Amino acid sequence: MKTHEIAQRWLDFFAAKGHAVVPSASLISTDPSILFNIAGMVPFIPYLTARETPPWDKATSVQKCIRTGDIEEVGKTVRHGTFFQMCGNFSFGDYFKEQAISYAWELLTSPIDKGGYGLNPDRLWVTVYEDGDEKDEEARAIWRDKIGLPNERIQGTGKADNYWHTGQPGPGGPCSEIFYDRGAQYGIDGGPIADETRYVEIWNLVFMQFQLSAVRSKTDFDVAGELPKRNIDTGLGLERLAMILQGVENMYETDQVRPVLDVAAELSGKEYSSTEDPADPHHTDDVRLRVVADHVRSALMLISDGVAPSNEGRGYVLRRLIRRAVRAMRLMGVEKPCLPVLLPVSRDAMKSFYPAVEEDFERISRIAYAEEKSFLRTIASGTARLDEAVIESKANNTALSGSDAFTLHDTYGFPIDLTLEMAEEAGVKVDEAGFRALMLEQRQRAQADSRAKKSGHADLSAFNELLSQGETVFTGYQELDGESTI
Ligand code: ATP
Ligand code: MG
Ligand code: MG
Ligand code: MG
Repeated sequence: MKTHEIAQRWLDFFAAKGHAVVPSASLISTDPSILFNIAGMVPFIPYLTARETPPWDKATSVQKCIRTGDIEEVGKTVRHGTFFQMCGNFSFGDYFKEQAISYAWELLTSPIDKGGYGLNPDRLWVTVYEDGDEKDEEARAIWRDKIGLPNERIQGTGKADNYWHTGQPGPGGPCSEIFYDRGAQYGIDGGPIADETRYVEIWNLVFMQFQLSAVRSKTDFDVAGELPKRNIDTGLGLERLAMILQGVENMYETDQVRPVLDVAAELSGKEYSSTEDPADPHHTDDVRLRVVADHVRSALMLISDGVAPSNEGRGYVLRRLIRRAVRAMRLMGVEKPCLPVLLPVSRDAMKSFYPAVEEDFERISRIAYAEEKSFLRTIASGTARLDEAVIESKANNTALSGSDAFTLHDTYGFPIDLTLEMAEEAGVKVDEAGFRALMLEQRQRAQADSRAKKSGHADLSAFNELLSQGETVFTGYQELDGESTI
């Protein structure tokens, strides 16, 4: 089943259960204090927190998401994209726990010809909220007695994993997550609490049930009582389900992502080998190819939603995604512009569900290609500066200084791993510790700046939960700067 068919099947299933089908909101969150929509529920926050009355009591969507906080995982785990789509069903004071669990089970396990996804029920595991004496016994009982899931495949996890709240007094409640066992060849026995690569999380069900009177941290809060109107918020990772239904090894090999990976492999003359094993000699290039495929798609979707490269906020995230993709290609030996080849491939893979990427491609591609060109120019001018530093280091028989590496990074946009790689080729070491110290100083300055600016947003506290996931306006610098792995 193609990814867009999986998405359509989701919407059809919940529409048939009386849910309003709500189109995806833009990646750009309407709240200026959040960079991007990071979950299906973000556009529904005013309804879920009862600040506004929803026009429907049940809704469903397939929401475009960007999680820059997951960028370092991309290509290394099987399941994290910077861009991904979250399928959701929402109840605003309508159905609750039992119905939400029943819908999830029905959709996942009903046969394909009956409108479901046809997953083997024996492969499904769930977690429910259990923290010391506090237990969501109700959820466990529904899974065990109503659904018939063996008790051993229902695992308890605590507040850090299975409790949702906004970070301030207001609604909160336990979660229940659904995992798919990919099989013994992918890891050890013992369920999701033992191995999250073998048992892949596909769906999170949030039961908004309680009124919290005080919230001191993610795991430390007081419950005042039951909410008068209880809500359901769920999120399923579309790419993760596609990876299972398409029988591929990871989300980068699904139909919306893989074509770019293949063309990137062709361009660089690398053979992609699907390995997840860091000890495998193919691993470095495999990760790079997965990063390229992920980031090119994220760039396409971001520009399509109106983001343009810049040195701050959303534009900076886009800039770094493009640069990371170009850099990964360069590290695989491709020095010519790669986006004119890769971006149309991503467009073709995405257009069936997002016609805008085709209709608007002239504009999207103009922005993307210009950004790549300017980065390649940066690399060229940085190379001249690097050559000077190398000559000097050789003459003095010293390592290339941390401050030279920092200047290359900061003024020329020259990533540290390029500096390391090219210095090594020239037979010169780099004072990487010195470079890191200067980066840290700069980051601390940016954080101080961020704190100053953040306090300008009066209602920011409502989103502490989201912000704590690293999605604020300023984390682009922290999350994306200075990474040395790709
Ligand atoms: P994980 O623990 O695997 O990082 P999560 O608990 O952070 O996932 P949730 O916040 O519960 O994820 O989001 C709901 C669903 O969205 C997840 O169950 C998963 O299927 C999907 N999802 C979350 N993050 C990503 C991502 N970076 N790429 C693809 N799918 C994702
Ligand atoms: Mg996560
Ligand atoms: Mg999780
Ligand atoms: Mg989760």
